[in-house]
Amino acid sequence: MKYKRIMLKLSGEAFLGDRAAGIDPEFTLKIAKQIKEVYDMGTELCIVIGGGNIFRGLSAAEHGLGRTTGDYIGMLATVMNSLALQESLEKIGLEVRVQTALTIIEVAEPYIRRKAVNHIKRGRIVIFGAGSGNPYVTTDMAAVLRALEMDCEVIFKATKVDGVYDKDPAKHEGAVKYDRLKHDEVLINNLKVMDPSAIALARENETPIIVFDINKPGNITKAILGENIGTIVTHL
Ligand code: UDP
Repeated sequence: MKYKRIMLKLSGEAFLGDRAAGIDPEFTLKIAKQIKEVYDMGTELCIVIGGGNIFRGLSAAEHGLGRTTGDYIGMLATVMNSLALQESLEKIGLEVRVQTALTIIEVAEPYIRRKAVNHIKRGRIVIFGAGSGNPYVTTDMAAVLRALEMDCEVIFKATKVDGVYDKDPAKHEGAVKYDRLKHDEVLINNLKVMDPSAIALARENETPIIVFDINKPGNITKAILGENIGTIVTHL
């Protein structure tokens, strides 16, 4: 195993399945099974989930809703996704705690770093909901922040694309995929990996990011084993 403790950042879209919006429990179960595979290998897992399948503050702001309110709604959407994944993981026998950056104690623990570390030590998976608790950023930033706080060695950014391209591969035939990139190259060339603020924080702390396609079963395991499955962003 190349990595022992990881931050898995799942985009909300990974929960869509064939739906236009919302959560498809069949998909959360599929992802849960991939997670179990690496958990059983001894991987310690911290997870941050986006909310894009339900709500994004920026898109709502474009349609007249205040950005701050939109962002808080977006953060609440990530809590819904966190609860859905928690249930799928528990269904297959894993112990999970959801901790949220906005307190909703009826459904989840509040985020307390020392407690989260303790959960991991006891063999539990911790899902961090409600992003960072602050508007004007996204769950990419939350993933980097929590990865640093939790001493994760790497961030696995699981999306629906199989890596980072020079142009959007959905729009441009002949878009070229990168195997390796430096944080600096991502920022200078404005490549779509994560939010620039999240990349900058990862660069400052030399945190590697691996971008890969979550829809290919076995990909999380391959990434844990150090196989080249997408694009790796490092400071070297
Ligand atoms: N959000 C926020 N602060 C955070 C994390 C998330 O305001 O720390 C809001 C923001 O509006 C964002 C939405 O929650 O658009 C959903 O998160 P994100 O867009 O990162 O989801 P993803 O694209 O990964 O599904």
